[in-house]
Amino acid sequence: MKKVEYIIVGQGVAGSCMAMKLLQENKSFVVIDNHFHKASAIAAGIFNPVVLKRFSIVWNATKQIQRLQEVFGQFEKLLNKKYIYNFPVYRIFNDEQEKKTWIKKATTHPDLIDYLSTETEQLNSYSSIKNPIGSGEVLHTGRVDLTNLLIDFKNYLVEKNSFIDETFDFSELKLDDNQAIYKNIEADKIIFAEGFNILNNPYFKNLPVIGVKGEVLKIETNAKLPEAVVKGKEFLMPLGENQYFVGATYDRDNVNYENTEEAKQYLIDGVQNFFEDNFEVVEQHASIRPTVVDRRPIIGAHPTYQQLICLNGMGTRGTMLAPVMVDDLYNFLENQQPIDKEANIERFYDKF
Ligand SMILES: Cc1cc2nc3c(=O)[nH]c(=O)nc-3n(C[C@H](O)[C@H](O)[C@H](O)COP(=O)(O)OP(=O)(O)OC[C@H]3O[C@@H](n4cnc5c(N)ncnc54)[C@H](O)[C@@H]3O)c2cc1C
Repeated sequence: MKKVEYIIVGQGVAGSCMAMKLLQENKSFVVIDNHFHKASAIAAGIFNPVVLKRFSIVWNATKQIQRLQEVFGQFEKLLNKKYIYNFPVYRIFNDEQEKKTWIKKATTHPDLIDYLSTETEQLNSYSSIKNPIGSGEVLHTGRVDLTNLLIDFKNYLVEKNSFIDETFDFSELKLDDNQAIYKNIEADKIIFAEGFNILNNPYFKNLPVIGVKGEVLKIETNAKLPEAVVKGKEFLMPLGENQYFVGATYDRDNVNYENTEEAKQYLIDGVQNFFEDNFEVVEQHASIRPTVVDRRPIIGAHPTYQQLICLNGMGTRGTMLAPVMVDDLYNFLENQQPIDKEANIERFYDKF
């Protein structure tokens, strides 16, 4: 029998940040993952502390932005590769009123002063971008290349004999008072970081996780574009070598993993709304975001089986949320610290 302190089920951004934390803390663990449509692998990986619809601050943004730089920096160091790309987000204004609201918030709103620039003409030198009223610049933003990070980290874990490539089989799980035994592995705790697939987990399936399907495109163009996210009706994000990411759709009704022509056309129309140059679609991807009724993550222990742990509900912002949620969860598990009550699974104990 192999003994570990933790089994992590799921190697998306949540499970990977958890594994990184355990590595840093010298805890023993194995990761189990079946690579079934992980949302993290197709996500843009954008981090942005400002809600671009309402120009409001994201929940706990400052802490999240700071911590994500540290944690994804640890991945860069461990795997000896660059994954963090710091660049601005430009939000194209729809009308004069939006511009006025932006400037007002950028100069007077205590939560936003650090994040909104009052410069509104940065896109004017790009002839392919329609930007008649200007655009607001969000600061401290960028992208984590989750697609490559997850592949490289998996290879690292395989090399360290800490990765099992399979679907977690619940019929092989035995629970006693303090432990969990899975096949030939004895673990103190099992952390389920399964993304939307948590709804197929017999222990956590009643959690109010709501799938929101997202589709994205990768396009190629020779147009001159800024090293920044440009957000009009949809967003364009540079990937290097004339390739750009276009995203994303939000669909609560057709929750599946299929690429659709409708979404492709919707994204093309959305980007053509502000981008006037030729491009070719080279890839399309779909996955499902694990969102939660009250828009907060769900972390903590199962009410009956305290050795079963939930790390879920990263919603539309896994890049920013995962590092801090992992810290909170680790402090709860190892140092008996309370979990942030807005993210604590206890708020849903009545569902079990
Ligand atoms: C189109 C799109 C664009 C997005 N863009 C952004 C963005 O720009 N910025 C941002 O922050 N967020 C973005 N998101 C949201 C982000 O992707 C999610 O918040 C995040 O990926 C959730 O991570 P996770 O680790 O919880 O789940 P996932 O990434 O889905 O990972 C779960 C993993 O668990 C594995 N798994 C599940 N069940 C089992 C089982 N029983 N046995 C074995 N393995 C299992 C799966 O195979 C998968 O690998 C986007 C999402 C989508 C769909």
